[in-house]
Amino acid sequence: MLTQPRNSSILVVYTGGTIGMKTDETTGALVPFDFTGIYDEFPSLKRLNIDIDVRTMDPVIDSSNVAPANWLALARLIRDNYARYDGFVVLHGTDTMSYTASAMSFMLENLAKPVVFTGSQIPIGVLRTDGRENLITAIEIAGARRDGRPVVPEVSLYFQNRLFRANRTTKRSAEALNAFRSYNYPPLAEVGVNIAYNLPAVLPVAGREEELRIATRLSDGIGVVKLFPGLDERILRTVLRTEGLRAVVLETFGSGNAPTSASFLGLLGETIARGVHVLNITQCGGGTVSMERYETGLRLQEIGVLCGYDMTTEAAVTKLMYVLGLGLPERETEMLLRRPLKGEFTV
Ligand code: ASP
Repeated sequence: MLTQPRNSSILVVYTGGTIGMKTDETTGALVPFDFTGIYDEFPSLKRLNIDIDVRTMDPVIDSSNVAPANWLALARLIRDNYARYDGFVVLHGTDTMSYTASAMSFMLENLAKPVVFTGSQIPIGVLRTDGRENLITAIEIAGARRDGRPVVPEVSLYFQNRLFRANRTTKRSAEALNAFRSYNYPPLAEVGVNIAYNLPAVLPVAGREEELRIATRLSDGIGVVKLFPGLDERILRTVLRTEGLRAVVLETFGSGNAPTSASFLGLLGETIARGVHVLNITQCGGGTVSMERYETGLRLQEIGVLCGYDMTTEAAVTKLMYVLGLGLPERETEMLLRRPLKGEFTV
């Protein structure tokens, strides 16, 4: 007997940001949109054959105020509801969405279900909003299954017709509706009349049998240093000698290059000798770090700087918070930093 496949069930989590705003009819001011009335506002959602529940984080925040404590709360919410739903859609402010989504990609260990982040540039209650399409398609993607299995069982970010691996994204425009880019990894799906999934690009599920576990601690003491010609070494010295510093994301030039002056390399070398991890990523949007290509990169490699390949700043920062938060012995920490954990870089 042919059995009707059951509806997918999705939990939509609203954390804050522009997508959750609408214009008050009487005052014209922007006021929060109540997502629990999602079916009244968008009756067409019923046609997706997906059961939707909604949770609103308390408090709802502008994403510029997001902190690791919010990430831990979100990870706990997903873990506590993991068995009950087939997928999750997280509505988030766009400003730091790539940070939160990258953090989730590391923190949700053994993830085997879709977690799709989205938001909007124009409030959902404004006529010309981009939020309606972003929300509806994110729900459809989170609920998509093939042979009973989720199509995109990883943390992803959907925005303006493209689905990306979350930890490859960067917000690149404060204005354009296609606000996000994934410079170094192809989209997981492109949306036109149909949703065209790029299945070979999707992360294979590791440890399908294992239970979802979440990180319960994220490390502090992470710094980001962006190099520029004329960087004042007194400032660099102050940053690198900060008490409690545990790791530095070094945003270098081109394919991972930095000055070769004895004072600069001496300062970095002394920092590494104190046990601080230095991770080299490029400040170019596209392309990768390859420290052996030029003398100026090679010197970094020689003093123990780690290669971050084509990682984004968002992924590098959140990976360091996650890995150092695990409290593992030094050798294992280095091993985790040297290899991709959730497809965050290409070797
Ligand atoms: N400031 C808002 C936020 O990131 C912007 C947005 O949602 O697009 O929360």
